[in-house]
Amino acid sequence: MGVRILNDLPEIAVHNIQEFLLETGLTLPPTPVVIYEAESLDEFHRLTGKPYSIGGVYSDFQIVIQPVQILKRKGVFIQVLTHELLHWILYGLEEKYQEPLISWWLGLRKDESFTHYLDLNYNGDLALFVRLHWKDQRIPPR
Ligand SMILES: [Zn+2]
Repeated sequence: MGVRILNDLPEIAVHNIQEFLLETGLTLPPTPVVIYEAESLDEFHRLTGKPYSIGGVYSDFQIVIQPVQILKRKGVFIQVLTHELLHWILYGLEEKYQEPLISWWLGLRKDESFTHYLDLNYNGDLALFVRLHWKDQRIPPR
């Protein structure tokens, strides 16, 4: 396998993460995340089973992303990276809220059903929302 591990996070991604932590009152998960950069689109598909329209995949403290150069060319590198990192940070949040919350926070409102779904369940206090829907009671945020 030609994947390599991405060690240096771009400053903007780090900044995004810090902002998210502040807003949610969360801290970085106790389990670190490993980011694998696929060598080619072909390999990305083989590793994840996802189509090329998906830039990255998070699962179980591992992120697999398409080749960085390709994501940059599409202009979605930071967005994809931040998105997957947020899944990591929200590892304890109920599954059904992860996608809507992340899309909403990143300002992607293309899919109305996401925001609509969240609107029904979001009480305006992000930190409280996250605590209320945190499924892992052993490691509560804060
Ligand atoms: Zn996602």
